[in-house]
Amino acid sequence: MEDKYVFHVHTKRCGHAEEIEDEEYVKRALELGSKSIYFTDHGPFPNNPFRNRMRYEKLDEYILSLKLLRDKYMGKIRIHIGIEIEYLPSYDEYYKQLRDMEDIEILILGQHHAETSSGRYTFELEDKSDEWRYLMEGQIAGTETGYFDVVAHPDRLFKREKKWTLDMKTEAERFIRVATKKNITIEKNIASMHHKNQYWKEFWDLVPKDMPIVIGSDAHCLDDIVVGKGW
Ligand SMILES: [Zn+2]
Ligand SMILES: [Zn+2]
Repeated sequence: MEDKYVFHVHTKRCGHAEEIEDEEYVKRALELGSKSIYFTDHGPFPNNPFRNRMRYEKLDEYILSLKLLRDKYMGKIRIHIGIEIEYLPSYDEYYKQLRDMEDIEILILGQHHAETSSGRYTFELEDKSDEWRYLMEGQIAGTETGYFDVVAHPDRLFKREKKWTLDMKTEAERFIRVATKKNITIEKNIASMHHKNQYWKEFWDLVPKDMPIVIGSDAHCLDDIVVGKGW
């Protein structure tokens, strides 16, 4: 796709984005000459076990709001409806349900937390030194499932690390091998570039030239909107 696009946009529903109407993002994308916009708010889980996610009972309203905008802006900009979500093996059936929903066009894997070997979550770990290994396990397992179209910020899981190590390189290569095998798109996340140790050049140096890459805004407010080209 050579046209300009805006990829990876959150909405007020996740609880940590600007309190604005969805349409504001569409208008900004249009102003910037974008031909399409991909909304991928933080997807809900049944019974809302996690904070900072859209509530499960809001999912229908989210989809409806975007469908109305899609019709309103038809011919001007293509509006895509998606979800960004963590891969947690115990919810495996749920991702199949999301995949089967006709109105959800795109699922992106954003491994912000993961299940640990003791059946808990990484945000509960007292010692976070192994966090990135669990996140990597989740990210690779999620990529393997084939449920997801894009892996968001595949390098952000190293955010607590201070410098690039051989261990990180080995694991990054393992992920890239699986992503390549699955022919999945990986995201260069613009928001990560504005935070220390979330964007790793060393990771991107390992990515083969022909791997599909999308530029993601990861917008949580209007001013985060960035236009990408060539995906
Ligand atoms: Zn967020
Ligand atoms: Zn995001």
